[in-house]
Amino acid sequence: LGGSISRAIQQMSNATIIDEKALNDCLNEITRALLQSDVQFKLVRDMQTNIKKIVNLDDLAAGHNKRRIIQQAIFNELCKILDPGKSSFTPKKGKPSVVMFVGLQGSGKTTTCTKYAYYYQKKGWKPALVCADTFRAGAFDQLKQNATKAKIPFYGSYMESDPVKIAEEGVERFKKENCDLIIVDTSGRHKQEAALFEEMRQVSEAAKPDLIIFVMDSSIGQAAFDQAQAFKQSVAVGAVIITKMDGHAKGGGALSAVAATKSPVIFIGTGEHMDEFEVFDVKPFVSRLLGMGDWSGFMDKIQEVVPMDQQPELLQKLSEGNFTLRIMYEQFQNLLKMGPIGQVFSMLPGFSAELMPKGHEKESQAKIKRYMTMMDSMTNEELDSSNPKLMNESRMMRIARGAGRPIRDVMEMLEEYKRLAKVWSKMKGLKIPKKGEMSSL
Ligand code: GDP
Ligand code: MG
Repeated sequence: LGGSISRAIQQMSNATIIDEKALNDCLNEITRALLQSDVQFKLVRDMQTNIKKIVNLDDLAAGHNKRRIIQQAIFNELCKILDPGKSSFTPKKGKPSVVMFVGLQGSGKTTTCTKYAYYYQKKGWKPALVCADTFRAGAFDQLKQNATKAKIPFYGSYMESDPVKIAEEGVERFKKENCDLIIVDTSGRHKQEAALFEEMRQVSEAAKPDLIIFVMDSSIGQAAFDQAQAFKQSVAVGAVIITKMDGHAKGGGALSAVAATKSPVIFIGTGEHMDEFEVFDVKPFVSRLLGMGDWSGFMDKIQEVVPMDQQPELLQKLSEGNFTLRIMYEQFQNLLKMGPIGQVFSMLPGFSAELMPKGHEKESQAKIKRYMTMMDSMTNEELDSSNPKLMNESRMMRIARGAGRPIRDVMEMLEEYKRLAKVWSKMKGLKIPKKGEMSSL
């Protein structure tokens, strides 16, 4: 998506005459890209109308930075869609709140309930989980397993088939036990059907939640708006959590969910594990949606986790965009140590996703160690050069012999180097923004 949008804007900035037609062509191109990213048709159309109102053709013609003007307008419009204008109910520590989760079967409710509980538990809260799903076989076992793993108290029953009763009893029990966050997991169905909505209404009446969170799978595409609206019409949805953002979905459905429920997205799920859960933040999300990279988040992260005295050196190297084998070596060290700098590099788009894909950590580490052994056989000249031509065959042979590896391993390592150098060079000229400043435009 990001690619097609930047291409559309690029074409427009190259056009000699910026007239209404050029702008329209550009906006049509962007529309197509947003639709492919699952942003709802109506939202895209309204956005197009708004942008035409905002973008002044005379400004564009006068040679102002067209790319920036249009990109900024799109960025602002998408941010506006994601901001429903009011925040959701926020639970208060030490004061009992009830939060109920709703969504279709498979959307990720049970997983997300535990993530949510775990998130607050880490901050010193006393959460508890209630399993009011008596529809799906094994629902209680699943919640029980998750809760036990995270050492969170839970309530449910193998015998009782009435979810309303369980919700009522569970909430009552945990209120007595002074839990400050009582989370009620409910059942889903494969489809939006009357029986589900009726059950949700009844559970909601019994549990009297302070907040109802609608959980939506990010991969449902254009169905997002209707689904979110159907839930909102049945119960008082007050917040949204989008799951499976680690998959292929671009996340355009989040815009639909906000528009349909008039509620903010509060978290996103980024994996099956308990801690793969992030607080939702509009601007970085839109940056990512537009393929602009998440540089503002990245800079904040650097400032947050890298020790002060190491920041200037790191930023300097990044802004020079000059990636040597020695820098690669240092970054590998950091990745293996999983120290703070390693964390930063795992955030660089394209840096660690391919180098250390999730679920293959062991093999990736072995590979990185192999690369480092080979680099140990390099001369300083080789390590400090960013000229790939330096690495002729006789040098590669020497390195392979020195490290006791076949030459194709050396070639593979150099390929990896080239790929990472490309990622690194995108950072060239990186400005170091003040904290909180939006830098990605
Ligand atoms: P429920 O039927 O709504 O309760 O959904 P579950 O919590 O049982 O989740 C359905 C499936 O989606 C499970 O296999 C989860 O592990 C998976 N899942 C949930 N959230 C995420 C996520 O953020 N990322 C990924 N990759 N999988 C998820
Ligand atoms: Mg479930």
